[in-house]
Amino acid sequence: SNSRHTTDVIVIGAGPVGLFAVFECGMVRLRCHVVDALDAVGGQCTALYPEKPIYDIPGYPRINAADLVHNLQAQAAPFHPVYHLGQRVERLERTADGWRATTSRGVEIEAKAVIVAAGVGAFGPNRPPLAGIEAYEGRSVFYYVTRREDFRDKRVVIAGGGDSAVDWVLSLQEVAARVMVVHRRARFRAAPESEARLKALAAAGSIDLVVPYQLHALEGQGGKLDAVIVATLDGETRRLEADALLPFFGLSMELGPIATWDLDLDRDLIVVDPATCATSADGIYAIGDIVSYPGKLKLILCGFSEAAMAARAIYARVHPQTPLHFEYSTTSGVPNL
Ligand code: FAD
Repeated sequence: SNSRHTTDVIVIGAGPVGLFAVFECGMVRLRCHVVDALDAVGGQCTALYPEKPIYDIPGYPRINAADLVHNLQAQAAPFHPVYHLGQRVERLERTADGWRATTSRGVEIEAKAVIVAAGVGAFGPNRPPLAGIEAYEGRSVFYYVTRREDFRDKRVVIAGGGDSAVDWVLSLQEVAARVMVVHRRARFRAAPESEARLKALAAAGSIDLVVPYQLHALEGQGGKLDAVIVATLDGETRRLEADALLPFFGLSMELGPIATWDLDLDRDLIVVDPATCATSADGIYAIGDIVSYPGKLKLILCGFSEAAMAARAIYARVHPQTPLHFEYSTTSGVPNL
């Protein structure tokens, strides 16, 4: 697929605020490409609390975070945003009339303006501190399961004691040749019902519980795993022959590359002009949880309002000759792009 694109606006972050920015940009006829480090849209709503109800979205007395994200994506859909998921924006460089973003997968996007809607930073998996693990990532070490079939007839080590780890043990043991579960204690932090099923499978000999052990080292060559070495706190080791390792140690968030983009920061937040959401760099705007200005509230509804202001400020940049006539969505409807 094509890895070079040109558009009006690059939106960095597909959280609730980035998604609504696509809608607001669309209403003023600006097209967007959206990049997110996560494999799914929705930011914190998707990664941290999909099943929790939210009570302070105007017009919704109560809505689950996952439903809100679904609705926001549907609201943006008429404007045909292009999503680039599972990759971080690493670099932002000036072009003759705007900016070029380069992602961790080598995708390049050029646009007149950038909206940084990066929340608390890029989400990424917590990696176990194993020497040389990078060489195995994507080949024998995976932090997400995209296709269960990839593990058919494989010997799989799953590490971690939370819901993700246990849920994947229950699922993959149906297709894998062998599933070995490494956890540093005998007790798990998963839903009691899932933990009971896990223990029953272990008692029946269908899976191996390797507890209390921690990941210690990887053995293999050229990204192909032969064995995972695990160790107790006392340093006693075991060698588990395996084709794949799936560590599920949760997600962490980090400002990451944003800190290197030369934007004025206040601690880990981007300082913006609250009238336009403009940052200190010409053509780069920031909205949502990542911004700082006097009185800023880290709420979804404040981010929505910032998206509307940024879109109008960007319109004025992109179309300096054609002043925008303010219109209500009820009057204009959703324009086609
Ligand atoms: P985020 O949701 O953080 O999304 C930012 C996205 O940007 C992430 O997906 C991240 O991966 C991506 N990203 C960052 N850097 C990069 C990069 N370099 N390249 C690519 N992608 C990048 N708010 C409310 O209004 N009401 C509530 O009831 C409420 N309840 C909450 C409950 C919990 C448990 C939590 C944790 C938060 C709650 N919040 C609530 C806060 C709300 O979730 C945030 O205000 C909101 O998610 C901010 O949206 P955002 O789009 O600015 O950022």
